[in-house]
Amino acid sequence: MPCSIYDPELDIVKIDTKKEHNPLISVCFEPTNRCQGMCPYCLIERHKPDIALDKAITYVDLLNQLGTRRIGWGGGEPLLFPGIYDLGTYARGLNMGSLLRTSGTFTIDASEAISAFDWVDVSLDSIDPNVFSQCRPGVSFEKLIYNIVSLSPILRVRVSILLTSVNKNSLFETIKWASATGVRCVRIQTLVPRGRAKSRYGQLSVDPSIEHKLIEEAINYAESLSLPCYELKSVSKGLIAILKPNGDIYSGDPAGIVKLGNLEDDQISILIANALGDSHRSHYAIGQ
Ligand code: SF4
Repeated sequence: MPCSIYDPELDIVKIDTKKEHNPLISVCFEPTNRCQGMCPYCLIERHKPDIALDKAITYVDLLNQLGTRRIGWGGGEPLLFPGIYDLGTYARGLNMGSLLRTSGTFTIDASEAISAFDWVDVSLDSIDPNVFSQCRPGVSFEKLIYNIVSLSPILRVRVSILLTSVNKNSLFETIKWASATGVRCVRIQTLVPRGRAKSRYGQLSVDPSIEHKLIEEAINYAESLSLPCYELKSVSKGLIAILKPNGDIYSGDPAGIVKLGNLEDDQISILIANALGDSHRSHYAIGQ
């Protein structure tokens, strides 16, 4: 039996370091790689077919057996996967945490979302529509705003900001709006030279001499508004993974990913343990 416990209020998995045998506690499951967006820094390089819903359910069972206590539903755009609410509800029925990570471009069904997700994470790179359209071409700003405003009073909503040279000047304005709207948390992530960003990294990334200070100031600003805010770093390394629609598992780290194996491999728990080891274990892991 898994010894780790998911705390939905804080969105962390508490780990019993003495008893825990499996480090794969938080997984980003991507049931689809499809997306209508054309973001210049998208990490999806090759599009794989969607997983079938019944197969996805068996994968959730396998993850549960491996000790996974939290699943973030990613993609692509996970709302394009027809069974996404069923998957979330199923995972929560197994006492796993469930978090939807969406571009927000489709209307989220609030009544289904309440059953399916502990948290909804929406990528809002900027509250300025002109800046946003440069960051996330193909994503509907109006729908995204509607989703955040309508869901925030009834569900835990997190806003994710990918910091680039394009949106850095609207960072504080975006945090202020999130706070006023009842968003529960803001996550800031820096650009990595992977996927579509590989060839545009120099142009899109923030000057390293100011990036760290800017994030620190943004976190302090959010805290002054009583809004929890953190930077996604590799603090969870060794405890998280990405599951692709074809069952391939990669160790997740903002700096890079490495394939561990396939979930249907009988030896997967040994492969994961060997690949990740125990060295990165901590008492909790905040999710991706
Ligand atoms: S919304 Fe996300 S998955 Fe879609 S293109 Fe943009 S970064 Fe990629």
